[in-house]
Amino acid sequence: MPHRHPPPSPYLPGKHSSPRVLLKRLREIMAESLSAQQKLDQITKAIAYTMVADVCSIYLRRADDRLELFSTVGLKAQAVHKTKLDWDEGLVGKVARSSAPLNLSRASEHADFSFRSEVGEEKLNAFLGVPILRTGKVLGVLVIQNKSERRYLEEEVEAAQSVAMILAEVVAYGELLEEKDAVEMKQILLRPEHFKGTPVVTGVVIGTAVRHDPPPPEHKTFADSVPKEVERLKEGLGRLQKNIDVLIAKNAELSGVSREVLEVYRLFAYDKGWRRRLEDAVLSGLTAESAVEQVHEENRKRMRQVTDPYLRERLHDLDDLTRRLQRVLTGQDNGEALELPDYAVLLADSLGPAELLELDRQKLKAIVLGEGSDNSHLAIVARGLGLPMVGGLPQAIDLAQSGDKIIVDGQTGEVHLRPQEETIAVFESKRIFLSEAQAEYDAEKDLPCVSRDGVGAELMMNAGLLVDLPHLEKTGAVGVGLFRTELQFLIGNSLPTSAEQEAIYRKALEQANGKPVVFRTTDLGSDKAADYMEMEREANPAMGWRGVRMTIDREGLMRPQLRALLAAAAGQHLYILLPFVTTEDEVITAREIIDKEIERRRKNDRLLPEKISIGVMIETPASAWRTEEIARHVDFLSIGGNDMAQFFFAADRESARLSNRYDFLHPSYLDFLRMISAKAERAEIPLGYCGEQAGDPLMAMSLIGIGITRLSVPAPAVGPIKRLIRAMDVKDFSSWLAPKIELAKVSLRPSIMTYALERGLPL
Ligand code: PEP
Ligand code: MG
Repeated sequence: MPHRHPPPSPYLPGKHSSPRVLLKRLREIMAESLSAQQKLDQITKAIAYTMVADVCSIYLRRADDRLELFSTVGLKAQAVHKTKLDWDEGLVGKVARSSAPLNLSRASEHADFSFRSEVGEEKLNAFLGVPILRTGKVLGVLVIQNKSERRYLEEEVEAAQSVAMILAEVVAYGELLEEKDAVEMKQILLRPEHFKGTPVVTGVVIGTAVRHDPPPPEHKTFADSVPKEVERLKEGLGRLQKNIDVLIAKNAELSGVSREVLEVYRLFAYDKGWRRRLEDAVLSGLTAESAVEQVHEENRKRMRQVTDPYLRERLHDLDDLTRRLQRVLTGQDNGEALELPDYAVLLADSLGPAELLELDRQKLKAIVLGEGSDNSHLAIVARGLGLPMVGGLPQAIDLAQSGDKIIVDGQTGEVHLRPQEETIAVFESKRIFLSEAQAEYDAEKDLPCVSRDGVGAELMMNAGLLVDLPHLEKTGAVGVGLFRTELQFLIGNSLPTSAEQEAIYRKALEQANGKPVVFRTTDLGSDKAADYMEMEREANPAMGWRGVRMTIDREGLMRPQLRALLAAAAGQHLYILLPFVTTEDEVITAREIIDKEIERRRKNDRLLPEKISIGVMIETPASAWRTEEIARHVDFLSIGGNDMAQFFFAADRESARLSNRYDFLHPSYLDFLRMISAKAERAEIPLGYCGEQAGDPLMAMSLIGIGITRLSVPAPAVGPIKRLIRAMDVKDFSSWLAPKIELAKVSLRPSIMTYALERGLPL
């Protein structure tokens, strides 16, 4: 039976148990020469004592997002490092998920309660869980439990939160963890994050994050001398107005709506009503700073009740003016703008148009705002300046640190914080693509890709995220020759579910609008691993457990993806491409798995794709050698030149030292490709080339010259390569190239270049 009246709290703030005393004790523990685990256990003990808790436990987050019991007083000691809760498991999981405290008098009655026999919490009732938070990220959960049935008091919750805050600091700095765990925690803190906000101003920027959070100035509340404060306010307002006049004069080039915005802003600064209310507040005995705060609060309240969106947006102007006046009054406005790195992306909760104009225009390239709508003055000015901007992302502001790499896509509202190299490459393509240089190819996008002497080529593009798909239409590529599905696995914090994958593939097919999309099953491993995947360290990951090797070993990875692909392409032509195949039997096994999923769908009476074509990436010498045998099991082949070249030359594709040593235009490599092409021809199977190298004009020429006419290249290369192919005489070039492949000893790059230049080919 629950108690009718909860017993009084044993927690006595201000006595032996105050957070200040605890803080002191924590500092002492940190200074002691103990192991990391001993320190953590001492801290748990100290918290339990202070909070008069029967149980105090610290759960910390692992890279796979599970919450591991790291230390406890009161639960079974054997459970430490053994009990691992899923992110959405039980009450601890709920605290982590919601990143908010949970205070319950009878834990077992809560819908999210889950019983774990190994920890021994049978007799416990009261439960208080608070998240251990750092820069907006949940690093763990601190749990206090008592046998009695009672809700913890507000002071107790606050005390637990301040302890959790300190814990977050020491945990983040690795001071309470063994070295290996500390490294893992760092990874969690620094892992890539992906957000979708409101697209405000279009454009793609890859740059460096800079936080814009000026510290609130400290000041007294009550004036020592009222006349003096009146004078200070008058002076402050005068200086503020002058600053704004100067700022507007300096930005004389802004015209139209942007100009009007600034003029309205200036009117606010000169507004008599505002001035009068400020003076009244000072005359009532407040310091100038407190008066500014008070009037601002009143203004905000009034403005919030206004329904007109235009007027509501003016709140930002008021915020900006207020911050500016405060800085003038406290002497912080020394006229120096925030120091920006090159390619700066500014992150701010809110920002006024004038604050924006003060920043170095050469360096500032994009803005991400916590609040924001596309009606704000800031948006209007940003648009006038052509500064890409995304709004509505308070989480991004919390999680970003100055210096982080960041991608802003003002067209879709996407923001990637600390992105992986692959994500950067995708957006780099989009960035180049949006640049004016591409515009000149627009007029040619619908022209056929046929050489001067009538040889037709199939020019496709590579993709990996949905942001790539619009390039299909823009470039005139005839399809997506390689959709790297693993990129979706790399940008998130967890494995995408089958349903999430299906939604993405469905959208990709929709956006392709009937053009083929070749979906490559996840090519994870090697350099492509997310932090949440517990990958064993390998000495040579490029030759390790990756691509199809991993997916046939882990049907749990492959089958949900196949299910998603089959569902997304129901009634259409589905292309599936298997990555990193080495031997024929791998293809047979992969096909069996595919057949199982097809069968399952058939049995469930679900609509299947109208046609399914399966392909293999030829990107290891072993698979190249057995091209004809492998061809028997599939419908098409595609050479993955990035991997193939690295294994052909035995030169790591990631090694900067080797990057210029072996040219893929070396006759030996071209000869090897010619061999694969001949084998494919004998096997009567279509063969393409989808490594990035096909985007190199001289390589594209060479591939066409040896008969590989199906190319999949990065989107920005589609226009230039098509123009080149249309200008080529393929027969002439092939007969020129063939003997060179036989006889030359060094890279053919210079001679192919000369061939092209002499014939005026557009490179
Ligand atoms: C390749 O190896 O050429 C290829 C297309 O695959 P990835 O670059 O994704 O390994
Ligand atoms: Mg590859």
